Amino acid sequence: MKDRNGREINYLRLSVTDRCNLRCVYCMPESGVPLIDHADILSVEEVVRVVRIINDTLNLSKVRITGGEPLVRRGVLQIIKGISLFGIEELTLTTNGLLLQQMSNQLAEAGIQRVNISLDSLRDHRLKKITRRDISLHDIEESIHASLDAGLKPVRINCVLMRGVNDDEINEFLEWGNRIGVTVRFIEHMSSRLNQSIFVSRDEIIEHASHSGIIRRRKDDGGTSGIYTVGDGADTFGIIAPFSDPMCKNCNRIRLSASGMLVPCLASSEEVSIREPVRNGADDESISRLVQQMVINKPDSHGGCVSAAMWKIGG
Ligand code: SAM
Ligand code: SF4
Repeated sequence: MKDRNGREINYLRLSVTDRCNLRCVYCMPESGVPLIDHADILSVEEVVRVVRIINDTLNLSKVRITGGEPLVRRGVLQIIKGISLFGIEELTLTTNGLLLQQMSNQLAEAGIQRVNISLDSLRDHRLKKITRRDISLHDIEESIHASLDAGLKPVRINCVLMRGVNDDEINEFLEWGNRIGVTVRFIEHMSSRLNQSIFVSRDEIIEHASHSGIIRRRKDDGGTSGIYTVGDGADTFGIIAPFSDPMCKNCNRIRLSASGMLVPCLASSEEVSIREPVRNGADDESISRLVQQMVINKPDSHGGCVSAAMWKIGG
């Protein structure tokens, strides 16, 4: 289905929980966030039903499971199994990787095809500082190997860049990614929690990366990350630049939060609750109408005003 700007909306980001086992400085306060009551979170059956209706309405080509940390959600495998029966072309997941080593085979069996793993530093002391938890590069590398072994390929790494925190690691990340067989995507920090002075722009990322070879941008692939090649073109990396390069004209996504809010855009306050009608006995057709209404009214762009709580609606 197309929105009023003619964009085909066929990608759902599905947040299955607001809970997380890390406290990344750019995402959550150290003390955690006010948690949604369990009773207000969509049950496994409710999530699967709503995704079925969204798929019937929009003919989805992609669903990405996210959170909070999706792998801490009880029932995440059942949710994935349920969704996998709808025959959607791509079923993927974004995770901080901590539980991936033990779950990658089950995720592959349930129907996940590939994973994005968040990793903001290659140095243990920085990882601990950024995530405020005792994690190490070794933990994440083990998860990456487990994912590749389970066939969850290609693995992509999401790295949020912050000035004076990890922006001196761009070239190390490129070298590391090539060595272990993953593609790194650098993300411009969205100013939810930290001072703006830590913002590193797309142009600065390219400038740093050019120390590894000549950087060329690949033809636009229609996604929200620009893909770049290094040197002779064999190696690639991505930049997700919601400020420098918003790509709103190509945006094909909507989001469903764990509590059943449909969100048309990161900057939007026009959320629609699906949980209420679902729990009040609404039939599929009425829920589908709500989805259509939200898609038609999807904002033209976020206009640089990206301050959403990513743990709530999924990054
Ligand atoms: N917990 C999982 C994880 O970290 O991959 C999935 C949810 S997390 C909200 C999804 C993505 O959003 C992560 O790659 C994270 O780095 C990114 N993210 C969260 N807050 C952000 C912010 N303020 N600016 C840019 N990216 C952010
Ligand atoms: Fe948790 Fe992901 Fe947010 Fe980090 S970015 S605190 S891992 S939800």
